[in-house]
Amino acid sequence: MKTIIITEGKTKIETPQPENFRTRAGDYAPSLTKVFYNPLMEFCRDISISVAQTAARRFNGLRVCDPLAGVGVRGIRYANEVKGVTRAVVNDFCREAFELIRKNVTLNGLTGLIETRSTDANILLRENRGQFSFVDLDPFGSPAPFLDAACSSLGKRGMLALTATDTAPLSGTHVKTCLRRYGARPLRTEYCHETGIRILIGFAQRLAGLHEMALTPVLAHATQHYFRIYLAAERGAQRADEVLKKIGYLSHCSSCLRRSFTSGVATALPQNCECGEKLSHAGPLWLGKLIDGDFTREVLQDLSLRDFRLKHQELSLLSRCLEEAEGPPTFYDLNELAGQEKKSPPKMKDLLTRIRDRGYFASRTHFSPTGFRTDAPLEEILELIGTS
Ligand SMILES: [Zn+2]
Repeated sequence: MKTIIITEGKTKIETPQPENFRTRAGDYAPSLTKVFYNPLMEFCRDISISVAQTAARRFNGLRVCDPLAGVGVRGIRYANEVKGVTRAVVNDFCREAFELIRKNVTLNGLTGLIETRSTDANILLRENRGQFSFVDLDPFGSPAPFLDAACSSLGKRGMLALTATDTAPLSGTHVKTCLRRYGARPLRTEYCHETGIRILIGFAQRLAGLHEMALTPVLAHATQHYFRIYLAAERGAQRADEVLKKIGYLSHCSSCLRRSFTSGVATALPQNCECGEKLSHAGPLWLGKLIDGDFTREVLQDLSLRDFRLKHQELSLLSRCLEEAEGPPTFYDLNELAGQEKKSPPKMKDLLTRIRDRGYFASRTHFSPTGFRTDAPLEEILELIGTS
């Protein structure tokens, strides 16, 4: 296997040559070769560094585990670039990956800080019950098979970071897969990626409930190809119960685009929309906030002081996340609503100002360039679009 050495953040990483891991579409291709390192995730990993730094500050130090590490880029970067890491375990079951992890730990002079392992991720996490304060699950596909063990490996307070690349099932392209994997019904709408993230969060929260652990999202972002979620973890049955109260269903009318939300899992759902059409439902899923404003502001502040290659794009994503932090679940698509009114879409900025002038919340959303989030009633939004 031919390898090259690349630099990400302040960390040097030896990895298989690009043709070994990148496909035409720039996607993960675990079937083509053993995938150790995806260069397209640098953006996502940089943000993780600032998230971990924020967590390290809040927890007074950080005990990190990267159980599905590939060549080790995430785990090694945490140990190398986050102040306050007191323990880091970097693991990959695959022997070739493990050999590269060991080389990379040495390459960065971190042999004293990082423990390298080559075992099954779930076994590693189980062996370290209650030992970690930051667990990063970065699998190819779904993190679902590792969530239970990850929860057990977290201490009294901690953070769970999740990547999911199975966005198609979670967003409603493969309904049966989503039902089987997450026990939840997805829904194909203009905001289906947000629904997918909420399904994944709800699933993780229900699993954490078994451990009397509350998982609360502090930051979540999505692209077409992956979801990334950071959840604050706290042990305690009461806290877990409070979180579970905010799990429920969303109902969507594909005729008038109205949405409604019902909290609770064993609960009756409305069958028909106010307009008379039959409603579609998605869930169970998380109905609470996706972004904690205070936490994300700290992440943004940390990132603004770093020297990342993609810093500008990363800062603009985090700013957009902050803008929409206080908004309600789901967003509207400007073009779709304008089409409904048979009008050409007004300027986004103007519409948002007019909605805010009426005393409602209104923001753009990082999920879509034509999306906007507001708690204004649909009639008022349509009226504003109709008279613009
Ligand atoms: Zn309707």
